[in-house]
Amino acid sequence: MNSVKIRITENEMKNEKTPASQLAFGTKFTDHMFIADYTAGSGWHDHRIVPYQPLTLDPSATILHYGQTVFEGMKAYLSEDGVVRLFRPEQNMKRMNSSCDRLSMPQIDEDFALEALKELLEIDKEWIPTEPGTSLYIRPFMIATEAHLGVSASKTYSFMIIMSPVGSYYKEGIHPVKILVESEYVRAVAGGTGMAKTAGNYASSLKAQEVADREGYSQVLWLDGIERKYIEEVGSMNVFFKIDGEVVTPSLNGSILDGITRKSIIELLKYWGVPVTERKVSMEEIREAYLDGKLDEAFGTGTAAVISPIGELRWKGELFYVNNGETGEISKKLYDTLTGIQHGTIEDPFGWVVELKQ
Ligand SMILES: *Cc1c(COP(=O)(O)O)cnc(C)c1O
Repeated sequence: MNSVKIRITENEMKNEKTPASQLAFGTKFTDHMFIADYTAGSGWHDHRIVPYQPLTLDPSATILHYGQTVFEGMKAYLSEDGVVRLFRPEQNMKRMNSSCDRLSMPQIDEDFALEALKELLEIDKEWIPTEPGTSLYIRPFMIATEAHLGVSASKTYSFMIIMSPVGSYYKEGIHPVKILVESEYVRAVAGGTGMAKTAGNYASSLKAQEVADREGYSQVLWLDGIERKYIEEVGSMNVFFKIDGEVVTPSLNGSILDGITRKSIIELLKYWGVPVTERKVSMEEIREAYLDGKLDEAFGTGTAAVISPIGELRWKGELFYVNNGETGEISKKLYDTLTGIQHGTIEDPFGWVVELKQ
């Protein structure tokens, strides 16, 4: 697939750019998108970069009824000296393929997908904002397009990449958020699709999020689907706690999404010599740590926010405050280091950053 040619149709009507200070998340898109189509038996074909545009789908397309779809989320950063950087992009393409495998969807050529992304970035480079904290959010995704109402894997698919300039997640500085521990609904169970970035996981999470919103909480903390005892994730982020000097995060158990930010934080903490453990973490342990004055820090992690500190947790009517509602030392250091590496202002000792050729 590496020798494949990408056909380019330029967008003659350039979209108007929003000033960086007014950018919201995922509402504005760049001038172009990448598409490739797949047909069972003949593989991927018609690789093209075209003007960003609506899709035409048959009303019986598999994606619309049975949710056969996966996505990825990554970012490109442009520094003042004109260098475009990606953060561990090969990890996103690899995870896309494992999500595809879970949803009985075809594999993409990971190297080619990255080349296609680089070509798209080259064409829409002027859309990458440079103001501190801003970036270009990249959404690769695949949908099942076969016109067929039978419940079976589609025979045709489209793989696409769209891109959206995003403002700083923390316009007014990092602020810890209030989290409601969800004891009724669950996000995923081992054996299900929690490990895959697929639409159904997010559709089924909205109900709990609505309740949290109504009660003045910004996200829910998801517990395991069997005993409602062990912590899984926070909203659509992985979650970490610092308890009595040790950083802990729930181990990947088949229902937790294997976050690239999570993986990077574990590697960074080990590099710094900070004790970090992947293991089961129960809500009861968090409660006891709080009561003993040992719940030092708590934070969510993901590409969008990087680090989202937790200032308060509510579980069965009890309130646990973390670090007096302020951002903790490790949370802040991780945020500064990761965003510094991503934007090229801090040296990258891990070889995580991929710089695009000028
Ligand atoms: C994408 C995602 C994450 C974070 O993954 P990153 O690779 O760090 O962005 C965590 N949990 C869920 C449910 C996700 O969808």
